[in-house]
Amino acid sequence: MDSRRAWTGPLDDVMGLKFRTGETTVPWKRDDVDLYAFHLETPAQPGEIQAEFYVTGVSDESGFLPGNSTAPDQLILNWNQVLLYPFGPPADTQTIQTQLTLPPKWKFATALPIQSEEGQVITFKPVSLTMLVDSPLLAGLGLREIDITPQGEPRVHKLDLAAESDSALDLPQSVIASYRRLVAETGALFKARHYDHYNFLVWLHGTYEDGLEHHQSSDNRLPEMGLADLDWRLIEGDLLSHEMTHSWNGKYRRPLGLATPNYQEPMKGDLLWVYEGLTNYYGEVLAARSGLWQPEDYRNRIAATAAAMENRPGRAWRSLEDTAISASLLYGSSIEWQAWRRSTDFYEEGSLLWLEVDSMIRGKTSGHKSLDDFCRAFEGGESGPPALVPYTFDDMVTALNQILPYDWAGFFRTRVTSLAPHAPVLGIENAGWRLTYSDERSELDRAVEAKHEQLDMRYSLGALFEISGKVLDVLPGTLADSAGLAPAMKVVSVNEHQFSPQVLREALRSAQTTSAPLELLVTNQEQFVKLRLDYHGGERYPHLERDPSKPDMLSHILAPLTPTQ
Ligand SMILES: [Zn+2]
Repeated sequence: MDSRRAWTGPLDDVMGLKFRTGETTVPWKRDDVDLYAFHLETPAQPGEIQAEFYVTGVSDESGFLPGNSTAPDQLILNWNQVLLYPFGPPADTQTIQTQLTLPPKWKFATALPIQSEEGQVITFKPVSLTMLVDSPLLAGLGLREIDITPQGEPRVHKLDLAAESDSALDLPQSVIASYRRLVAETGALFKARHYDHYNFLVWLHGTYEDGLEHHQSSDNRLPEMGLADLDWRLIEGDLLSHEMTHSWNGKYRRPLGLATPNYQEPMKGDLLWVYEGLTNYYGEVLAARSGLWQPEDYRNRIAATAAAMENRPGRAWRSLEDTAISASLLYGSSIEWQAWRRSTDFYEEGSLLWLEVDSMIRGKTSGHKSLDDFCRAFEGGESGPPALVPYTFDDMVTALNQILPYDWAGFFRTRVTSLAPHAPVLGIENAGWRLTYSDERSELDRAVEAKHEQLDMRYSLGALFEISGKVLDVLPGTLADSAGLAPAMKVVSVNEHQFSPQVLREALRSAQTTSAPLELLVTNQEQFVKLRLDYHGGERYPHLERDPSKPDMLSHILAPLTPTQ
């Protein structure tokens, strides 16, 4: 989601703007505070005003919505990028009809209801401005639509893929079956649906990995082999389940501060640790329940999350709630000094926080209740077309108390609104596991290193590198930090050998049996600097290890709710 205090959107790509009434041009002036508003000199006679403008196709990948929306043979169209609307009436009450002409032979997919199709001209039914903006469209030459509606499910669910190669569209049958099961699992979890049909729109192109939620569809962006390739599945296997969870947690039930009547009014993000945090938890759990991940894949993800959140020196100055309130600053913030700044941690830490809530409900009710019951009660409701029911913190606490009476307000105060020096790993421990480190990379670490071309030495030396040797982040208080290593430096050599991930790994291994420090030659802009790191602990990567003194509750959490063949 995008809860920015500042207005965003590619308005700089709007060109050729003209307003007319009949044959008469209506002059316009941009508001000098709200740069997204245009004032028109009202014509003497009331009547229709026509706006004409062009929006350039944007191909850069600098951000989610502003970029990465066009490729030579495919397009993802977010209507908010190509529309102006009258200021004033709430978006729900403005009715808009759209018509779209696609290039020859292009196919399309969208949750927007269609009135008619003539050749490449599609006329959509009139809908509210809210529904239009909530219904992006995916189009292209290579479009594959796969029906993933489970047996017995009355609402049609489709997986719509756009890519420029057949291999990207050629998903293994087991993956298609898992997405079908994801639909079944969400039905079993929430017991109600707040849409008439659902389209997973999947854009497979470029390097971007992210998604945007909607009531009846989701806009998912992955690299070309993002669905077909196993390594990508380890990294992004929870993307579609995350975005779909938002149909309940985010679109149907939404924090009051995020339920604004139009797109101009600033949002308040203080409950994003529910909106995104709870979604992050269920996105991951549902990936496991639907078979996109094996239980070990889920555990590797949680281990990575717990290690990242625990090794965040920024916890000493910034609460989790503050990361939510300042989401609009953090979405675009640098990876440099991320551990000290903190980032949009309400996503990742949300997974740990809500695992703790789930484990407490399960533990204190001897397994009779779980967080699933809360989701069903709070976000299930009656099935029907898209609807919005806002909530407050107190509403959520009341609903949790109906599942398990407890001081939930105090619980969240300690973990969310206060400074919390340690990551909430009690959920992992309650569920029969614990966070450990070893010199072995997990399959997830290996996949991330291969696909993101990063070398993660945060839990050994205290730094995250590109595989080129460039320093992406340094954790304050670690050996890397005290030796003077800083983001944007680049390691040229290790112990007088030219840097490569293999050379650094070999040096860490050797350092375990000598007392000599590691010698790094780094570039700091135009300067060469020699740094010495007296480190002998070898490589360290996070894992979850079974705690045999407790039952394996995690396996119950990850077990499918629907029967598997
Ligand atoms: Zn989300």
